[in-house]
Amino acid sequence: MSAEPTDEDCIFCRIVAGEIPSRTVHETDAVLAFLDANPLAPGHTLVVPKAHHETLADTPEDVASDVLTALYELTPTVERAVDADASNVAFNNGSAAGQEVPHLHGHIVPRFEGDGGNPIHALVGSRPDLSDEELDDIAEGISAELEA
Ligand code: AMP
Ligand code: ZN
Repeated sequence: MSAEPTDEDCIFCRIVAGEIPSRTVHETDAVLAFLDANPLAPGHTLVVPKAHHETLADTPEDVASDVLTALYELTPTVERAVDADASNVAFNNGSAAGQEVPHLHGHIVPRFEGDGGNPIHALVGSRPDLSDEELDDIAEGISAELEA
C-alpha cells in the first residue's frame, strides 16, 4: 500500500520516509509505531498512519481502523516490555486539544502504581455544569449528526 499522501514539512511523514531516525517498534503497510522522543514514561509509544492525515476526522475509516488495530496489539505488548501496571491510550485530536504534530498519532503512555500521574479526566481545566436538559440536547445533537 502507498504511504501517500505525504507532507514534506511534516516530521512524522519524514520519519515514515526514513529521513529522520526513529526507534521503530512495529510496522505494517499502513502504520508505523515508534518511541516518543520526549517520553512521558518508559515505553511511551506513538502509532501513526504512514499516510499524512491530521485528525481522526481527516482520516479514512480503513486507515483509522489500522491505527486502532496497532494500538490494540501494541498496548499490552508495551506494558509487558516495560513492566507497566496500566497505560493511558489517547489522541490529542486537533490543536485545541493539544495536538502539536499535525499528523494523526495515538499515544500509548505506560503507567505505574504510584507514578504520581493523573487520569485522563485531568485533561480539562474545569468541568462544565450541564443541566439534564442540556445533556439531553447534546445527546440528541450527536445522534442527529450521525444520521445527517
Ligand atoms: P502531540 O502533542 O499529541 O502532537 O504529541 C507529539 C509527540 O511527538 C510529543 O509527545 C513529542 O515528544 C513527539 N515527537 C516529536 N518529534 C518527535 C520525533 N522526531 N520522534 C519521536 N517523537 C517525536
Ligand atoms: Zn505527516
